[in-house]
Amino acid sequence: MTVSIEKVRCIATAPAGIRLVIVKVETTEPGLFGLGCATFTQRPLAVIEAVEQYLDPFVRGRNVDEIEDIFQSSYVSSYWRQGPVLNNALSGVDQALWDIKGKRAGMPVYDLIGGKCRMAAPVYMHASGRDFAEVTDSARKLMEQGLRHVRMQVEVPGQATYGTSSDLKTHSEIDSPTNPHNVFEPADYARLAPKLFEHARKELGDEVELLHDIHERVPPAMAVQLSKDLEPFRLFFVEDALPPEEINHFRRLREASHTPIAMGELFTNVNEYLPLISERLIDFIRVHISDIGGFSMARKIAALCEFFAVRTAWHGPGDTSPIGHAANLALDLATPNFGIQEFTPFNQATLDVFPGCPELRDGMLWSNGEPGWGMDLNEDLAAKFPYPDHPYNGAWPAIRKRDGSLVRP
Ligand code: MG
Repeated sequence: MTVSIEKVRCIATAPAGIRLVIVKVETTEPGLFGLGCATFTQRPLAVIEAVEQYLDPFVRGRNVDEIEDIFQSSYVSSYWRQGPVLNNALSGVDQALWDIKGKRAGMPVYDLIGGKCRMAAPVYMHASGRDFAEVTDSARKLMEQGLRHVRMQVEVPGQATYGTSSDLKTHSEIDSPTNPHNVFEPADYARLAPKLFEHARKELGDEVELLHDIHERVPPAMAVQLSKDLEPFRLFFVEDALPPEEINHFRRLREASHTPIAMGELFTNVNEYLPLISERLIDFIRVHISDIGGFSMARKIAALCEFFAVRTAWHGPGDTSPIGHAANLALDLATPNFGIQEFTPFNQATLDVFPGCPELRDGMLWSNGEPGWGMDLNEDLAAKFPYPDHPYNGAWPAIRKRDGSLVRP
């Protein structure tokens, strides 16, 4: 019997203080629904409008089995397409339909796409601090939990350095786009970062895999130099050395340095990642699955990457919802060319709102093996965690050099 989409709606919740958007697709079969991640935490309200005003009326009455055609027809229904708002809206519906298909089949989604290649997904988490000792202490705590991969970021003294506690402070205290706490000098950072890794290799040894995120904050020539300077410390990868606007510099980076290259959390358009993959200019693809349109797009990217020996490292910070983490994990488990999974632990409120979250054990993420994503959403509890107040609704603060010129976030 055909099961159809009855209604598509959004649930906005922030159990960890981060603005999440979950799409719920309700069906004509009583009790059968699907959940999808549509979290674009800097513009969540725009995504909710795109889902509820445009996709809900467009897909109502459609057969829930037709995931690919619903994706393709929704994708062109705006005529002008792509971009993070519309892609996240598509992702919410797409992931919810995969959840429904898994529930109907009685299988976890990773079984629908070929089954497990590995029992669990090794993860990396974030070690940060105000100085080298704080960062290595933080890394040791993660290693004691069984992690074999650690991302390391250190504060440039007095500056709003990406990935460090001082950066987080500026986010919560921000009240003005010209906040003097938000100064960042790319050259100061690029001189300091290799010294962190020299210290880390001395303190932590050679066994642990070390990762680093440049976060598109330096000009191309400086990114090339930094990548060369990091070579002696044998990093697992360096991430986002360049912004999407400057992807044509990747060839130069590739030729100049042996440090493995990870790229992609800001990509939203196939023409950004396709040449980097097909020309073998990167080692790891780390797009944010909801930002490129959802699970259907991501599984195609994973398969494409297999033929170019590019490994997957899906973006998995706190602004990936637990449903998004479950989608990441389904691909991690079923993708032969899996590389590593970024992970941010769930707080207790998140675990309560989203029963069935993937579990971290022995440095790896484990699925509960239940059908679909294996996840639920307690809507009554979700409503108790509204979006936090913020002067401009969670948008990134401006980061500036001392002279006042803008630096990318
Ligand atoms: Mg990153």
